[in-house]
Amino acid sequence: MTHPAFKPSVGSTLFFAIHAAAVAAFFVKPDLTCILLCAGLFVVRKFGITGGYHRYFSHRSFKTSRWFQFVLAFLGGMSAQKGALWWAAHHRHHHQHSDQEDDVHSVKQQGFYWAHIGWILSPDYYAYDEKKVKDLTKFPELVFIDRYHFIPPAVTGLACYLIAGLPGFLWGFCLSTVILYHTTFAINSFCHLLGSTRYETGESSKNSFILAILTLGEGWHNNHHYYPHCARQGFFWWEIDPTYYVLRLLKLVGIVHEIREPSQKVIDGKEATAALG
Ligand SMILES: [Zn+2]
Ligand SMILES: [Zn+2]
Repeated sequence: MTHPAFKPSVGSTLFFAIHAAAVAAFFVKPDLTCILLCAGLFVVRKFGITGGYHRYFSHRSFKTSRWFQFVLAFLGGMSAQKGALWWAAHHRHHHQHSDQEDDVHSVKQQGFYWAHIGWILSPDYYAYDEKKVKDLTKFPELVFIDRYHFIPPAVTGLACYLIAGLPGFLWGFCLSTVILYHTTFAINSFCHLLGSTRYETGESSKNSFILAILTLGEGWHNNHHYYPHCARQGFFWWEIDPTYYVLRLLKLVGIVHEIREPSQKVIDGKEATAALG
């Protein structure tokens, strides 16, 4: 597949600006509030991506109420990775076409740069196929927050500024957001390149302990490609999967239910499912 030429846009300008601001953070001495904002907003927003955008909206691997569904869409949206519908539509496409010519971000087909970041910056992917997320577009509040996806990150950035001034904005919002970007993108790039392969899935996904630590459990990407429907991605106790642990806690307090688990047959490699379409 040939890549479209890079074209500057409002989105790519903001994307580069936040990277510059993240570098600028190192020239501003942070106080404890800045450090806590940076770390806290990393963890909470990362769960918004892993538990919300990925395991809930893209794969419907557990159930929850309509209000908590919106909370997940807002938390993920605070990461400035566009809306839940955009994210889920492209991710479902990735599972259906992994490493084929029309995979949106395939290291094998298009190289590391494109899989990591190039596709995000390409105007070709600003839109998404609504047919892929018909189950989600029936909720007007999700369509609204997807269309106005600048609202959650704008609120987050403003809150950081109001709490701790410019250092709070640079550390709590900009630096934290950039770390969120590259740890999320690393699943599309590094996790299709480096690591181990437990299951034969016909594409390049890998399991990586390091990426699992950095992404609240998303590094068990080969497990995930083998059986994308389950909420659990670390199939064994040593495969650390904090997103799954949080989901179990949320189940205990009655916020989520019907968490899909891998059966023993799946873990043993004797049963896989087709990607969610
Ligand atoms: Zn993948
Ligand atoms: Zn997935």
